[in-house]
Amino acid sequence: MPVSAASPAAVSFDLTGRTALVTGANTGLGQAIALALGGAGARLVLVGRSPMDETVAALDALGAGHHVIRADLAETSGLDAIVAEAEGWSGGLDILVNNAGIIRRADALDFTEADWDAVIDVNLKSAFFLAQAAGRRMVPRGRGKIINIASLLSFQGGIRIASYTAAKSGLAGLTRLLACEWAGRGVNVNAIAPGYFETNNTDALRADPDRNAAILARIPAGRWGDPGDLGGAAVFLASSASDYVHGIVLPVDGGWLAR
Ligand code: NAP
Repeated sequence: MPVSAASPAAVSFDLTGRTALVTGANTGLGQAIALALGGAGARLVLVGRSPMDETVAALDALGAGHHVIRADLAETSGLDAIVAEAEGWSGGLDILVNNAGIIRRADALDFTEADWDAVIDVNLKSAFFLAQAAGRRMVPRGRGKIINIASLLSFQGGIRIASYTAAKSGLAGLTRLLACEWAGRGVNVNAIAPGYFETNNTDALRADPDRNAAILARIPAGRWGDPGDLGGAAVFLASSASDYVHGIVLPVDGGWLAR
């Protein structure tokens, strides 16, 4: 059988000319993903509620273009306008990374409705409606990449984080649903499930000596993830190298789930 255009020789991780929107890009995993995509050639739309100065400076050093949109993603009525602005700036959005997220910790017996709603709104509702806004532009064009930042709590139960587990498990389900609806229309929807990474999100865990030691002892790689460890997975799922990959939740976890 002849070798097709999709042979290994045709594989490309190059994002030159592509525009990627990353939410929560001022810090942590979102910042690392933005820099990885910029390093692969993409221009970035950085979305979040805090100043993006650090990320902008790093993108400048890479020579990657950027546009900042300040937005609180808990305000889910403004999500279509964010994608519209990104399209207006770039001429067309190629990649959406739903990264922004929060966590609230309390025993299930004490969990409040406020902590439920806050996490579901940012981690699940805004991710879906941003994907919908992007999909409404990408599907008619017949191409696009959507990457949801899931979690080990997309696979496991966890403790004291009821709304986070519900949101991340829901996000894995939505990733599969959107992949089923859009895979045949040229749009890839996938997710990355980071393990335990050193970011603001995990400050409380790393500050607790017992939890920190227990987590480290369970990670086969023997260390917390550095945000830069996510870059390869993000570039892969954003590039044509993953054109036949749909609906996966890719763990980047130092082997946690293999244990
Ligand atoms: P982080 O350092 O706390 O960053 C979270 C990002 O989300 C920040 O940019 C934050 O902005 C933004 N954000 C939160 N609420 C927002 C809102 N209402 N509107 C706009 N932006 C908002 O945490 P991280 O670890 O990088 O987390 C990034 C993603 O990875 C999250 O979805 C998280 O659940 C997921 N994750 C993290 C880990 C880990 O070990 N770190 C593991 C699995 C999954 P501000 O800086 O303004 O708050």
